[in-house]
Amino acid sequence: MSSNLSQPERRWHQLQQQLVDCRQCSRLIAYGQDVAKTKRKSFEDQIYWGRPVPNFGDAPASLLVVGLAPAAHGAHRTGRMFTGDQSGRWLYRALHRFGFAETEAWEQKDDNRLIDTIITAVAHCAPPDNKPAREEIQNCSRYLDATLEHSQARAILCLGKIAWDAIAARTQRSSVPRQTNERRKVPAFAHGASYLTTQIGSRPTSETFVIGSYHPSQQNTFTGRLTEVMFDEIFGKLREKLTEDPNNRAP
Ligand code: SF4
Repeated sequence: MSSNLSQPERRWHQLQQQLVDCRQCSRLIAYGQDVAKTKRKSFEDQIYWGRPVPNFGDAPASLLVVGLAPAAHGAHRTGRMFTGDQSGRWLYRALHRFGFAETEAWEQKDDNRLIDTIITAVAHCAPPDNKPAREEIQNCSRYLDATLEHSQARAILCLGKIAWDAIAARTQRSSVPRQTNERRKVPAFAHGASYLTTQIGSRPTSETFVIGSYHPSQQNTFTGRLTEVMFDEIFGKLREKLTEDPNNRAP
């Protein structure tokens, strides 16, 4: 770690190191080690990262993208969030198209840079069948809390219902005149659902725009449940919200 780093930068780097060193979820650690050893045939000449995958991007950042967990032969192999599989191809294409990544590159750890953006996940270890257990998500929640605090994001993109629920559990919809308490509840997950919040956990924040999207998993993109047009609409909205005057926002 460079000695020229500011205190917040140093703490951000320390968080990534804590993540990489974490061994709390024995099931995920054992699974990850086994995958890294047995490998997929098409990657048998590669050395798998094989550990928890840290956040990608530098804090603070205007946009925080929250995914589910590293894919066994994607991020768990390459060591960078959403890198090395088709989900990443979709995500980095859209990020680049709307000015959140320098290029569309999605295949290797060092082939791209984010612009004012961080990519994180509710679980930082690859789970069997892409399904982290509730307890494992709970174990990893301290890292999501720390990431939210460091990022100071003004917009949060939740990829899939589990990411949405994780952010919903930490936020409350901002009140607006004549709204009842009932309507201040965060809406249920849907592709394109959104709300504004001024509180994350117990911490007041500047107004933050939260939006949900179907996850760009092959299950969704191969079936046409999520199309490039639908995904671009989400990123267009994010860009619009981050560009407009924060004092004049509507969800
Ligand atoms: S999922 Fe999170 S809490 Fe569990 S071992 Fe991986 S980094 Fe640690």
